[in-house]
Amino acid sequence: MRIIKVKDYEQMSRKTANIISAQVILKPDCVLGLATGSTPVGTYKQLIEWYQKKDIDFCEVTTFNLDEYVGLSFDSSQSYHYYMNKTFFSQINVDMKNTHIPDGMNANAAEECRRYDEKIRSCGGIDLQLLGIGLDGHIGFNEPGTSFELGTHCATLTESTIRANERFFEKAEDVPKFAYTMGMKSIMQAKKILLIANGENKAQILKEAFLGQITPQVPASILQLHNDVTLIVDEASGKFL
Ligand code: PGA
Repeated sequence: MRIIKVKDYEQMSRKTANIISAQVILKPDCVLGLATGSTPVGTYKQLIEWYQKKDIDFCEVTTFNLDEYVGLSFDSSQSYHYYMNKTFFSQINVDMKNTHIPDGMNANAAEECRRYDEKIRSCGGIDLQLLGIGLDGHIGFNEPGTSFELGTHCATLTESTIRANERFFEKAEDVPKFAYTMGMKSIMQAKKILLIANGENKAQILKEAFLGQITPQVPASILQLHNDVTLIVDEASGKFL
């Protein structure tokens, strides 16, 4: 595991965008695994800037997002489809046909999860997976206690995640209770992993996940067993690493 410590959020975003950019330059038709949340926003912004300067070209890239809320349509402003289109896809030249996010409107969970795993497989697997980390150590919607053996599945959101995400909704009751998420098994199959974090409130969980015991109680801890993981953390979140 490589740990890259940088000064602040801006540096974290720039370094992360550099690594993604290098991946796309080395393999223009690569498969990127993408994440939502507030942490990667600066990374997407930086990549857009380099795209506008013609330093990076996404025309052959395929993407898979980690997760999507169940029951939110593509155009609902809280859906991760909406987030990705607004924050990234609509501002670069990725072919929308090659962008994949679980379909939260498919009420048949088993079918949707199978379809998603099959699609990842048929594209040759993920070359580089970008990840954030939740305050409880979750990755995507793999909450504490989730088996490391799962592929894409329907997850029940914990109270802590509902509370963390209610800032995006009018009220807590509006936060969906379920989400389709890639499982830790799917994530571990990515060839390279890039996990990013910033802010003092992530310091403790980073310590537990990367210096502590490997346990489903801290979903991110399984990443200790992956052979190509890079952490990019700012000074505040990385203070125990
Ligand atoms: P954040 O979310 O980037 O908004 O902190 C991370 C996560 O919950 O995975």
